[in-house]
Amino acid sequence: MQKDTIAIHTGYDKKNGNGEMAVPISQTTAYAFRDSEHAANLFALKELGSIYTRLNNPTTDILEQRYAQLENGAAAIATSSGAAAIFYAVANVAEAGDNILISDKLYGGSVTLFHFTLKRFGISVKVFNSDDASNLEELVDDKTKAIFFESLSNPQIAIPAIEKIVEVAKKYGIITICDNTVATASLFNPISWGVDVVVHSTSKYTSGNGTALGGVIVERDNLAEFFKTNSARYPQFTTPDASYHGLVYTEVPLPNFCLRVRLSLLRDIGATPAPFNSWLLIQSLETLSLRVEKHSQNALKVAEFLKSHKKVKNVAYPGLKDDKYYAKAQKYFKGGLASGLISFEVESFEEAKKVIDSVKLFSVVVNIGDSKSLITHPASTTHSQMNAEELKKAGVNPVTVRLSIGLEDTADLIEDLNQALN
Ligand SMILES: *Cc1c(COP(=O)(O)O)cnc(C)c1O
Repeated sequence: MQKDTIAIHTGYDKKNGNGEMAVPISQTTAYAFRDSEHAANLFALKELGSIYTRLNNPTTDILEQRYAQLENGAAAIATSSGAAAIFYAVANVAEAGDNILISDKLYGGSVTLFHFTLKRFGISVKVFNSDDASNLEELVDDKTKAIFFESLSNPQIAIPAIEKIVEVAKKYGIITICDNTVATASLFNPISWGVDVVVHSTSKYTSGNGTALGGVIVERDNLAEFFKTNSARYPQFTTPDASYHGLVYTEVPLPNFCLRVRLSLLRDIGATPAPFNSWLLIQSLETLSLRVEKHSQNALKVAEFLKSHKKVKNVAYPGLKDDKYYAKAQKYFKGGLASGLISFEVESFEEAKKVIDSVKLFSVVVNIGDSKSLITHPASTTHSQMNAEELKKAGVNPVTVRLSIGLEDTADLIEDLNQALN
């Protein structure tokens, strides 16, 4: 089936139930078992079905099926936020004593997770240069369990050397995890370029209206084979899980990565989406491809305006022909579209603050992917927990302003920015 059809129909049969055209919300905590044997079968995975909403839910299940197919994956698991999806994806493969390799250009929340919170769990990180991945291979060791990067990084608006990263990962048998939040499943499918696991914050473009927080993890086909081949690095998939009566994940004929997240991490930590949020995200997913196309077209027009403005020093938008990442956007992203984020630099910190304080139509918000245009100053907000050196390393400059271009008429957006800059 084609993507636009999947986004609207996959996983739901309206002939069941009362024929509801809209996917019903299963707003329930638990599910009645037919009898004790049914309950035992569900827990033993001899039969698949709902047990308790912390583990699975029929509404969330439809969102998961649609996301898995939209990302060309084998399975997906939805979480309560993008941050939870990232934590689970990493915690599924790494534990105390292990390390992960991370891109030098990441979302601020991921930077603090990796450098501070995971460190408290004994997982260390090593940072590679994502533009060309030239120092990636030298960072690999026996304890390296994942390579993590963003396909279109927020807020640097950079595109990594995806093929090089995948090549190194395959050479050593290491799982790659790609945060595809900004590019979206509509413009780019990391799995088709050899990535193993994709994560999203569905709070952004998937929601599209800024109404529901959510996250999703998608795994590629055949990871069981990968784990068997690389069992020395990933014994948690090929040896008995004492917490699940000795289950060996690679012996279960279900996509292994999401299975383990569900049976251990969701079970024990529980950052599960509310059924209502899954329902909201199902509505939004129906129009994702339309919206992302429009976000991208609008952003290109605004980027071109900024480029021509005398008070603007630098504009980063991979849809601009002279942008550093233009060639990569053309190569990887559908139609060369580059989504809705733009960053630009002005003369000074004061000038950046003045722009933020003068806009009328743009909202000063630390979110992205909303139908409403948003403006933010990363150095004083999302990345404010970093010191000057960390900011520099993260590619966040005190004079950088970031825009998330919405779905309004660009004439109004340009007029607003023009008056704020002058
Ligand atoms: C927002 C965001 C996240 C975190 O997602 P939440 O849903 O806010 O928890 C992770 N990665 C990227 C690229 C993001 O933009």
